[in-house]
Amino acid sequence: MSDDIPFNKTFDFEPDTVKAVAPGVRAVVANNPSPFTFKGTMSYIIGRGKVAILDPGPDDDAHVAALLDAVRNETVSHIFVTHTHRDHSPAVPKIKAATGAKVYAEGPHRPARPIHVGENTARLDASADMDFKPDVALKDGEVVSGDGWTLEAITTPGHTANHMAFAFKEADLIFAGDHVMAWSTTIVAPPDGAMSDYMASLRKLARRPEPLYLSGHGAPIPEARRYVQFLIRHRQGREASILHRLGKGAADIPTLVKAIYIGLDPRLTGAAALSVLAHLEDLVARGVVATEGPPSIAGHYRLAELPLPAA
Ligand SMILES: [Zn+2]
Repeated sequence: MSDDIPFNKTFDFEPDTVKAVAPGVRAVVANNPSPFTFKGTMSYIIGRGKVAILDPGPDDDAHVAALLDAVRNETVSHIFVTHTHRDHSPAVPKIKAATGAKVYAEGPHRPARPIHVGENTARLDASADMDFKPDVALKDGEVVSGDGWTLEAITTPGHTANHMAFAFKEADLIFAGDHVMAWSTTIVAPPDGAMSDYMASLRKLARRPEPLYLSGHGAPIPEARRYVQFLIRHRQGREASILHRLGKGAADIPTLVKAIYIGLDPRLTGAAALSVLAHLEDLVARGVVATEGPPSIAGHYRLAELPLPAA
């Protein structure tokens, strides 16, 4: 569905088994594979002896046990969370209870924009961890250090409003969460996600020097800066496809999905529709596309009239 991006779908991990992935970083993959989570959620252990855990993962007792087993005889001093989807943060209370570590994240779950009247938010409620609350709310650029590691918080909204990536200074890498992944593009689905935020967050990472990313799902990403450029160009291409189709006449979202996504996994049709809605929200906000009322999943869309040149 996106042959313009050099995806890497190899994955050399056993579920709930600890494995070293970079200097000072070990990973434990949760056994929660799905079309949205690939082979499962990656929980990371940072440092050695006195460690941090990043993204404890889903509320799955086997995964919690595997993660705690991986750090037996070590002290967990910090817990970091990239975002509050149910495959990333619900194991926090159990890991916190077992270790006494403080929890660091951007903030609780929240939509990227107000919910429209009549909008079906069932999918959002199912995917979000509404119970999550960090002990320490981090701001962009804030630095947290432990024994032998230093993490810099990087706000990266788009996938969720509270998404945060973390630069691991000593290893010159970024924990990218679900914002940048090797196996797939990121779901940007309103009202949880926002395309304008997502693009700004990609451009923000593109300006950074770190060459290696470790993601919430899938394999590590070497040459990450180049990869981020592919992701930016891919979304620009999607936007161009939407505008091209609207250039032939007004259309609703199912029509746009059919025109744009060739060979789409049918299980991802709903996600594709929301992704198109995310683009349309951005295009309407920029005055390029018009619709009646706020952009909605059931709306009809057309190219906006060009403004008259100033007299
Ligand atoms: Zn997510």
